[in-house]
Amino acid sequence: MRQRFAPSPSGFLHLGHAFSALTIWAQIRAVGGTFLLRIEDIDQTRARPAFEEAIFQDLSWLGLSWTPPVLRQSRRFFFYQEALNKLISQGLCYPCSCTRRDIAEALSAPQENVITNDLPPPYPGTCRHRSMASRQENDAIRLDMGRAIAAVGGARALGELGFDETGPRHAGRHLLQADILQQSHGDIVLARRDIGTSYHLAVVVDDAAQGISHVTRGEDMFASTFLHRLLQALLSLPTPVYHHHRLIRDDNGKRLAKRDDARALRSLRQAGARPEDIRRMLGLMDPIPPARSE
Ligand code: GLU
Repeated sequence: MRQRFAPSPSGFLHLGHAFSALTIWAQIRAVGGTFLLRIEDIDQTRARPAFEEAIFQDLSWLGLSWTPPVLRQSRRFFFYQEALNKLISQGLCYPCSCTRRDIAEALSAPQENVITNDLPPPYPGTCRHRSMASRQENDAIRLDMGRAIAAVGGARALGELGFDETGPRHAGRHLLQADILQQSHGDIVLARRDIGTSYHLAVVVDDAAQGISHVTRGEDMFASTFLHRLLQALLSLPTPVYHHHRLIRDDNGKRLAKRDDARALRSLRQAGARPEDIRRMLGLMDPIPPARSE
């Protein structure tokens, strides 16, 4: 088993991160394997070295250790570009100059995503007619979802592509469906205008590069996994087993965000919490099994 914990260094780790990291750790300790760390810092306007340093400190404080090297996404733009070029050369991409406002206006009325509230409504397709040759410097690059589905063999062939999920809410095998991909994701951005890649593209490239066998992350990422599976098929990358865990919520039932300072591990630590208190707060009562040699 090879798993990664993949935080973004744009804030301090909070209880939700601790839950992910400790869940990964427990799974690895149970069967033997490797715990890897990936710093998801493609958005250099939000990443801060101090937050990265805090990630190392907070994980060590929790009693976790990782096998080097730490993978930093900000050093890997070459590989994301390479993957993007592969998709471009298959004729699956187009440049897009729409701003958020253009998109909101084209969608005319505010709407919720039909499939999941975790995702915004799909892009209305304003720039879909454009060729890559018309790309301007400030354009984003989108995946043409219709063409992508055709490229893997169409709606029927898509139904052969799936992934295994071991998380409590969605355990079982999940197969891709054309209408869900179209209606919940649509023409997603593969390369943002400012950073030349996107979370979705980078995560599938890096899960493959790090030889990840099992991905454990929050339930809010479940819907995106269908998209990740499609990108894996288009890029001929392997598919890990997925485990999406419950989200840790605050006392009002809202999911935790980076700005919730009171739930930051360092705030809790400064208030006197010990690692075992964190585990208790998360409902992880079992003591951490001792480290095994790899
Ligand atoms: N950087 C993402 C986060 O912090 C990780 C998502 C993933 O594990 O794929 O939520």
